[in-house]
Amino acid sequence: MNYAEVAVNSPGSRSSFSYAIPPGFSISVGQAVWVPFGSRIVQGIVLQVSDKPAVEETKEIAGIITDSPPLSSIQIKLAQWISEYYFAPPFDALSLMLPPGFERRSIVLFKATGSQADLPLTPEHRQVLDVIGGKTNTSLAELEKAVGRRKARQITDQLLDLQLITSTLDLGPARIKPKTVPYVELTADRQEIEVAKARLGKSGAHRQAELLQFLIGQAKPIPVDEIRRHLHCSSATIKALESHHLVSVERLRVRRDPLAHLSFVPSPPPVLTSSQQAAWGLIHDIIVGEVSPSGRSPVFLLFGVTGSGKTEIYLRALAQVVAAGKRGICLIPEIALTQQTVERFASRFSGRVALLHSGLSLGERFDEWQWIQEGNCDVIIGPRSALFAPLPDLGLIIIDEEHEWTYKQEDKSPRYHARDAAIELARLSGAAVILGSATPDIGSFHKAQQGEYQLVELKERITPRGYSPLPEVTVVDLREELKAGNTSLFSRPLIAAMKGALAQGEQVILFLNRRGTATFVRCRSCAFIFRCPRCSIALTYHSVEKRLICHRCRYSIPAPQSCPRCSRRNLRSLGIGTQSVEEEVKDFFPQARVIRWDKDVITRKYGHEELLEDFRDRKADVLVGTQMNAKGLDLPQVTLAGVINADTGLNFPDFRSSERTFQLLCQVAGRAGRGVKAGNVIVQTYSPDNYVIEAAAKHDYLGFYSKETDYRRRYDYPPFSRLVRLVYSHTDEQLCRLEAERVHHLILEERSRKHMADFSIIGPVPTFAFRARSKYRWQLFLRGPDSSHILSELALPRGWTIDVDPVGMV
Ligand code: ADP
Ligand code: ZN
Repeated sequence: MNYAEVAVNSPGSRSSFSYAIPPGFSISVGQAVWVPFGSRIVQGIVLQVSDKPAVEETKEIAGIITDSPPLSSIQIKLAQWISEYYFAPPFDALSLMLPPGFERRSIVLFKATGSQADLPLTPEHRQVLDVIGGKTNTSLAELEKAVGRRKARQITDQLLDLQLITSTLDLGPARIKPKTVPYVELTADRQEIEVAKARLGKSGAHRQAELLQFLIGQAKPIPVDEIRRHLHCSSATIKALESHHLVSVERLRVRRDPLAHLSFVPSPPPVLTSSQQAAWGLIHDIIVGEVSPSGRSPVFLLFGVTGSGKTEIYLRALAQVVAAGKRGICLIPEIALTQQTVERFASRFSGRVALLHSGLSLGERFDEWQWIQEGNCDVIIGPRSALFAPLPDLGLIIIDEEHEWTYKQEDKSPRYHARDAAIELARLSGAAVILGSATPDIGSFHKAQQGEYQLVELKERITPRGYSPLPEVTVVDLREELKAGNTSLFSRPLIAAMKGALAQGEQVILFLNRRGTATFVRCRSCAFIFRCPRCSIALTYHSVEKRLICHRCRYSIPAPQSCPRCSRRNLRSLGIGTQSVEEEVKDFFPQARVIRWDKDVITRKYGHEELLEDFRDRKADVLVGTQMNAKGLDLPQVTLAGVINADTGLNFPDFRSSERTFQLLCQVAGRAGRGVKAGNVIVQTYSPDNYVIEAAAKHDYLGFYSKETDYRRRYDYPPFSRLVRLVYSHTDEQLCRLEAERVHHLILEERSRKHMADFSIIGPVPTFAFRARSKYRWQLFLRGPDSSHILSELALPRGWTIDVDPVGMV
């Protein structure tokens, strides 16, 4: 094996490269190496070793970064799958899995050989040699300071050729180090200590005697901090004992444990209810069994409303896997990663739970990573990135709220979906997967219908007080309110219900859809909405151009003054914020205490957790939030949940807008009435007969699924086709459009050359957030069973991003 295929850490490099393995180097798959790349030396990861290089001319690997590979062969395979499936640079996929703080730059160090030059040297050569002098190491940066950037490289190259200096590679400064703290331990034997104690007591050194006495009772070395907590003891006291060789002080590595501040009482599992028992019966035999002969790993879709006991099944399945000597990962949407959830897991698997989330410091993440890799934990909880932690013996992956869009990495490469990556990882590891949701992703449910996933249902809601029904949902037609002259944000039924709840001392949540703020235009007299005559989705108001634009086909009209249906001049672009809802509550109920839950309120100091705590502690009567916040809340005092306007999301120009709205409405409806009293939900809408609203009001997922799949099948949207989103961004509007059109033409040509009749293109159109971060963005979508043939032919210049299976179209 003389050659290695290496993924290099250089932005945007789409493929891996062949390098020769120098004699004496022992290189294996997953190893981290230094390789020359262009004029630099960069980090690389070995993907493969072989007898033949992929190209004729190869450079040599320059050095080995870590003796033992930081990545396992399964991780390498997973990264390759992610890179290929999502058209992402291989190193981007690998960096998901590299230890925190791993990515570092190289430094070149020089040393004089001491030999004499045969030729006369220039003054510059002498200057450089003087700087290097007799020191053990001189960095290139130092030389650059002395003679300038370009010169430094040039001259050192020449001196290397003349064998006057040698160079070595070193890592740049580490971004993190293991944390150590001082520990104290007795070193003298029992008799010496008794003697010393007596002597110290006599000479009045009571502190030292006291410390000795304390240490006699300790079986292990004990951190200085802990000693301080027990005794009045200064560092001078410890030093004094140390100088008499009675104790030793040594720095030991400690784990920065994100759960350290919490204490857990181990709790026994409850007896399963009969419907949990039935669900568990379907899962438990398969879960630790072998992978099926087809090579597929078992994927369960656990479908049950909020509070139906899914988490209890997760815990059961994890316990079973752990009992069989394996380990598990449980992914949770970041916002649902509350203390409540963590406590539940930590008390079941006491001391064996690792927690990963975005709030951890780099050091904490590094420690968790090490701790996990060393096999110290059985269960990892975390958001999508936790999937890539180096957990040995993986037996089970759970994805809670599998329909959540946060499982898709949208903002940077690789644009992977954690669900699909998890299923691939499970296949590679011979592990099982459980996807859980009250409102499964349409694609996931479709797969369950096709037999690709195994459907397991939990039909009843459990509360600590036994089964409890889902809350009653009342749909209020806002058109009737307009007719009756009520133009406030709250309908009469909502006001009446709020009045009732507040009078009883109960709590109320009001939800608002954040997306779709000031986007589409509606007539306030007859509720007419401007739609595209070709695509029938709502037109979007662009204030700069003063036009209404279709985001699917680019149809556009100047923003009108009056309603084409009733001719009245009562048009309004829709967009209400949490602030206006808060003000309206104060108008109607001046006595009520209101907490607003949005980005402006949440700060580093006052996080989601604190805000919820305040609400739970009854420091407020009404909580106003966006529907984003509906998940993972357990608020037993809430008896009324109101949705201010269910339509905002519905009219979003995206084929997933119905699914999204349905999920959010169900989540809200699942919130109220989890306590002793039955809950009430009021949904305000201008389109009460829309199938999304009707189905959500009846908690009818299957009804929704059937209508929604009809629509998707008719218009050939996923899961009946696959989409790839291509986005181009540029600061120049004109160039941006032209480039999008150029690529559009290329794709059309490729399509006809390949006779791909079942392949279509949507766009190019400007993206919804048209000028995000002062850049113009244009996009087009490839739609067909498989776009990879087209994509692999396209050489897209910088500025393009590729998103395979995008979760949104805007
Ligand atoms: P989900 O994950 O579907 O929202 P949970 O597992 O959180 O449901 O269960 C809802 C509530 O019912 C929780 O308070 C949980 O502690 C409780 N619970 C779940 N299973 C049982 C059981 N078998 N016996 C008693 N209480 C249970
Ligand atoms: Zn259109």
